[in-house]
Amino acid sequence: MVISSTNTDSAEHLNCTFASRYVRSAVPKFKMPENSIPKEAAYQVINDELMLDGNPRLNLASFVTTWMEPECDQLIMASVNKNYVDMDEYPVTTELQNRCVNMIAHLFNAPVGDDETAIGVGTVGSSEAIMLAGLAFKRKWQQRRKAQGKPYDKPNIVTGANVQVCWEKFARYFEVELKEVKLREGYYVMDPVQAVELVDENTICVAAILGSTLTGEFEDVKLLNELLTKKNEETGWETPIHVDAASGGFIAPFLYPELEWDFRLPLVKSINVSGHKYGLVYAGVGWVVWRTKDDLPEELIFHINYLGTDQPTFTLNFSKGSSQIIAQYYQFIRLGFEGYKHIMENCMESTRVLREGLEKMGRFNIVSKDVGVPLVAFSLKDSSKHTVFEVSENLRRFGWIIPAYTMPPNAEKIAVLRVVVREDFSRNLAERLLSNIEQVLKEIDTLPSRLLTKAAHVAATINETQDGKLPKKSETETLEEVTRQWKRFVDGRRAGAC
Ligand SMILES: *Cc1c(COP(=O)(O)O)cnc(C)c1O
Repeated sequence: MVISSTNTDSAEHLNCTFASRYVRSAVPKFKMPENSIPKEAAYQVINDELMLDGNPRLNLASFVTTWMEPECDQLIMASVNKNYVDMDEYPVTTELQNRCVNMIAHLFNAPVGDDETAIGVGTVGSSEAIMLAGLAFKRKWQQRRKAQGKPYDKPNIVTGANVQVCWEKFARYFEVELKEVKLREGYYVMDPVQAVELVDENTICVAAILGSTLTGEFEDVKLLNELLTKKNEETGWETPIHVDAASGGFIAPFLYPELEWDFRLPLVKSINVSGHKYGLVYAGVGWVVWRTKDDLPEELIFHINYLGTDQPTFTLNFSKGSSQIIAQYYQFIRLGFEGYKHIMENCMESTRVLREGLEKMGRFNIVSKDVGVPLVAFSLKDSSKHTVFEVSENLRRFGWIIPAYTMPPNAEKIAVLRVVVREDFSRNLAERLLSNIEQVLKEIDTLPSRLLTKAAHVAATINETQDGKLPKKSETETLEEVTRQWKRFVDGRRAGAC
């Protein structure tokens, strides 16, 4: 957690043997040091401590890019000192951003003609993009309600319970009620029929996900568009759709060009995508595109002129680096459609190898689908003795970071492991991972079940509290208790899937 509490114990110092070559006194951890230290010492102290971080390339928990070409690294380093917001001073950087927005708008089939122009903006990631898109929907809805003389104080948004945490943030920060379609066992995305049922006159939009964070599955935006069109005709409402294509936005256009999920569907008014996921750029870039200028209320756009000429801005933050935008442009022109297609096909092929290897072990159910974002989500067929959490924990020993988590309501009973396949996850690594998983399974099979030990412990503590009386817990009751314990344990450690 980065909201740090003040630590008054300044006696706790950071000791570093290497730095002792350059400095004799220890560096305090929580207070700014009185004196300066040589640059070599500062470098050494920090570099040594960072060695204990995981290896980003083995971090299979994240969709976010961990490798780029050295030529692009060079461009990034050359532009780290450029503030993106100084558009007048860095007109070329601004121009590159605009080119990226245009390329993405075309990729998502935005209608472009004489009277129609899509607009968009670069953001820090999909989260900021979603805040902006959500604000635009909220404001549009308020304007419409005001014009009709109707109350506009109870906006809501309809999503699946599988949404990424940024939607919950949007709802809480900007005071919009989040109406979630619950999942069910075996169905882990938003059901369009139920979503449309939840829509009412206060719904600012329905948010569909192209590439669910939990299973990589694409939600059926086409069906949603159909059902919602019908409902709008019946009620006179104008409920629009937003597509959260954070991970799928750079998959679907290359692998499933026939799939209709984007601006080809009339109710889709805005789309976000993470440049730092399958856009293949390091963390720090996302995009949001609106179908037309009318879909972004003018009153949300600020005009600044003190850096030079008039510059419209619509972002939550003001200053930020330019490197990521330049890197995105690099990827677009370096790879082209062909390059992205090859990389995504390759990711899918590695996903297939991994999925089939896991299936062959006979111990897992595959929860992810063949069509979707390249990832494998899988659960244990038999979790009566050992759980996916133990598998995840044991894989850490080999350096693999593979998260295990329980599904959102109402499918909490299902716990899965998820391996995200990125460009830099080679076939060799996939094969190595499979053999490590097999090894882990073999090892935990020989261990006493922690669940049963825990169950016995839980049963004992429950029974103790009944002052002397020892009511017998049935086996299912005990197991339920154990599941609750696990859930508490997992919730406590939850870092969030990203
Ligand atoms: C990753 C993700 C987000 C958040 O995106 P950031 O770019 O990390 O801010 C939102 N929605 C979905 C579906 C995601 O996968």
